[in-house]
Amino acid sequence: LGNKTAVKPKPRFLRVNTLKITTESVIEELNKIHMVDKDDMIPDMLVLPPGTDLHNHPLVTDGKVFLQVIDACAAPGNKTVHLAALMNGKGSIIACELNKERAKTLQHTVRRSGANNIQIVNGDFLEVDRNDPSYAEVRAILLDPSCSGSGISTERLDYLLPSHSRDNQDDASTSSRVMKLSAFQKKALSHALSFPSVERVVYSTCSIHQAENEDVVNSVLPLATSLGFELATPFPQWHRRGLPVFQGSEHLLRTDPEDGLEGFFIALFVRKEVGGTSEE
Ligand code: SAM
Repeated sequence: LGNKTAVKPKPRFLRVNTLKITTESVIEELNKIHMVDKDDMIPDMLVLPPGTDLHNHPLVTDGKVFLQVIDACAAPGNKTVHLAALMNGKGSIIACELNKERAKTLQHTVRRSGANNIQIVNGDFLEVDRNDPSYAEVRAILLDPSCSGSGISTERLDYLLPSHSRDNQDDASTSSRVMKLSAFQKKALSHALSFPSVERVVYSTCSIHQAENEDVVNSVLPLATSLGFELATPFPQWHRRGLPVFQGSEHLLRTDPEDGLEGFFIALFVRKEVGGTSEE
């Protein structure tokens, strides 16, 4: 983490779906409750005051204006198409995948799903410019990055190199690989949290290692807090929470082979007001 730089609260951006409504009609409608400007550069992009919440506004629920979601490390795309189903054809999903071959698999998954609001980007999520106006509407990011896969049975380790087998935690080469993965996961999570309009970031792994789970979350907490995020509690009724290695780890969720399930980990960061201090 570098030096702290104070930034002003960011405005909210909204793209009008001109297939359903004109930009002028949206401006007229929104002007009843908010100050609305047109973006200088992007056609049909509107700029609203920081903190404007339109989630339940009929313009959003009727699909006339769009909210975006990024699936940061997407292939083979199981969660991408799940997101599409949850969004029920509304909004748009940007599915980012680094590996060219896996991007093809992702494309295949997306095609089979019948979803038509998923855009595939074959590239490095770390290189996605969070200040690019085309990402100004991104409200949610799912980050399910490469991990050791130590929580899942070997026959399902489809995204690891063939030489990788199920982890043995005592093995020195495994622990050096886990530390490398952990370093990438920290970078990717910091990047996800730094998108200007993002309100919800889900970080998940299928690892049972603390280094890829609690340690990653703990390391980004100063940045997350400075940006106004808090850890929320996904599935509060679930009994197995994060390992008690920092205050707040009870918000995290773990499943474990001991539960008769594969090992999985989820952290959910939520903020109500965008803007704050960027440290990335
Ligand atoms: N979420 C997926 C699903 O449920 O089907 C599984 C994702 S898998 C755990 C992680 C993916 O992230 C791999 O396909 C890997 O190639 C990709 N990946 C790794 N580093 C990346 C990066 N820097 N940018 C984008 N994708 C990356």
